[in-house]
Amino acid sequence: MTTTTRRELLTGALGAAAAAPQLADADEHHGHDHDHDHPHQSVPSDPALRAKALESVLVGRGLIDRAALDALVDAYENQIGPRNGARVVARAWVDPAYRQRLLDNGTAAIAELGYRGGEGDHMVVVENTPRVHNLVVCTLCSCYPWPVLGLPPVWYKSAPYRARAVIDPRGLLEELGLSLAADVEVRVWDSTAEIRYLVLPERPSGTAHLDEAALAALVTRDAMVGVARASPVTGASA
Ligand code: FE
Repeated sequence: MTTTTRRELLTGALGAAAAAPQLADADEHHGHDHDHDHPHQSVPSDPALRAKALESVLVGRGLIDRAALDALVDAYENQIGPRNGARVVARAWVDPAYRQRLLDNGTAAIAELGYRGGEGDHMVVVENTPRVHNLVVCTLCSCYPWPVLGLPPVWYKSAPYRARAVIDPRGLLEELGLSLAADVEVRVWDSTAEIRYLVLPERPSGTAHLDEAALAALVTRDAMVGVARASPVTGASA
């Protein structure tokens, strides 16, 4: 990857879209009959086609290298994922000083564990307590803390999640299987291109005997977005 910034990529994407009007023809790319009821995108067209067009333009101009791009995609799709965030959470659960650093300066504390980089340059960690539950969304698009959680899941990017997280967070959580008592305050954090949030879930009860690695195994991606709790300890295996 070159030093191309996100903004430059977006600018390039807009340019590529403008230069390739045929990609805006939804029916053209869709390629089958329309006797079904799923929504069709109008303009711009299929994101995959736009990404391909953008990639072609950037490669053609020598701005990016295809192999480097593949390596980057592979890194975020297969190598970097929620396990990073889980290690951060588990460390905070066992180390009060680390927890405080994490809440004071998320970016720096997360970097202590070696997790840093694009889409996570300005991290804010918000802590769940018995009285406060935090929920993360990107109402505008899909901003997400890549270095600690990997790539965002499809539901996180969906319009219903983005809308309901702010309109009716409590109802949304209820539907997702997370019931909160009426006296628990729900705080919704709207991610931006600059600031990404990570939820520090509550440490499940009955985990005093677990070491850091075992604790990390209880921390799910959903818990760090705030749509679930950390997993309870099950059976005797833990
Ligand atoms: Fe976004």
